[in-house]
Amino acid sequence: ETSTAARRSAELEEQIALRPNDFRVLTGDRPTGLLHLGHYFGTLHNRVRLQRQGVEMMVIIADYQVLTDRDLAEHLGEHVDDLVLDYLAAGIDPQTATIFTHSAVAALNQLLLPFLSLVSVSELSRNPTVKDEINHSRQAAVSGLMFTYPAHQAADILFCKANLVPVGQDQLPHLELTRTIARRFNDRYGRLLPEPDALLSPAPLLLGTDGTKMSKSRGNAITLSATADETARLIRGAKTDAQRHITYDPQSRPEVSSLVLLAALCLGRDPHDVAADIGPGGAAALKRTVTEAVNEHLAPMRERRTAFAQDRGYLRRILREGNERANAIAEATLAEVRSAMGTRY
Ligand code: ATP
Ligand code: MG
Repeated sequence: ETSTAARRSAELEEQIALRPNDFRVLTGDRPTGLLHLGHYFGTLHNRVRLQRQGVEMMVIIADYQVLTDRDLAEHLGEHVDDLVLDYLAAGIDPQTATIFTHSAVAALNQLLLPFLSLVSVSELSRNPTVKDEINHSRQAAVSGLMFTYPAHQAADILFCKANLVPVGQDQLPHLELTRTIARRFNDRYGRLLPEPDALLSPAPLLLGTDGTKMSKSRGNAITLSATADETARLIRGAKTDAQRHITYDPQSRPEVSSLVLLAALCLGRDPHDVAADIGPGGAAALKRTVTEAVNEHLAPMRERRTAFAQDRGYLRRILREGNERANAIAEATLAEVRSAMGTRY
């Protein structure tokens, strides 16, 4: 599935380069803490590049989704600010990008009901990402929100008729469900919704320091806003393997290869070349290379972040304006959906 998605992503990149105006992007994140390198190289880096290529950009802060795997959404306001700061630091331009919060756009939840009617319980229950997240969740029982959140995401994407979604590999099953919902809606009620494509980056599944998916909730992440020292310490403790000679071979050496890829992405180099340069230096040399590359790549972002953090009023304004734009778009789509379904009397 991933290699098909990677091939499709390569095709899409060609089309985007030729006709950026044909695309509208929707992506987003949950406000559960600081963004990490997995988010950055999985999706955020692509968003910034697409925006610079002239693609229209919508970014959702998925606050309701915080409740999928925890009972309480704590420090939400703080986490929302942290996300906006990470976006700004990475280079998202709020002049042209619409940054908004899910809970401020009520029409999203109105779209959810008809969308839920278009999927079966068995389709929802066989979603591999949801299964994986349930296994890692601290909750005793699986909530209805956890079970249905891929359908909410379909509303988050389709409300603005986005046709391009830059995401990490874990999101592919959700994108497939969104396409299914769009297709069934169009079949049943007449053509209205696009079938959006996932756009994968060269790092669709960056591993954390323990060798599993880098994840906010697994304590294995290196955040974008960490200090240089903290970054060095975390990378020093990262899992590698028993082979001394460093090579790039994601299939047989996932932990080492993820570190090599991380350095390569920061340096703008080919991972095979980076591995060849380190070669006999072993894990210690690899970690030194990664630490330097990451810290150098992130330094300007970390500086910008500190500067933006001085002006909370600016963050409030970005969200106020983003929410206003998102609401106007969502209301218009909801009106079309209701007309198509015959529920406008
Ligand atoms: P996490 O997944 O880190 O626990 P989260 O669930 O709060 O945190 P999401 O909002 O699910 O984060 O992820 C936002 C985006 O970042 C998604 O497109 C997802 O695919 C991508 N992403 C998250 N972790 C990684 C990773 N390790 N490698 C590549 N992409 C990732
Ligand atoms: Mg996640």
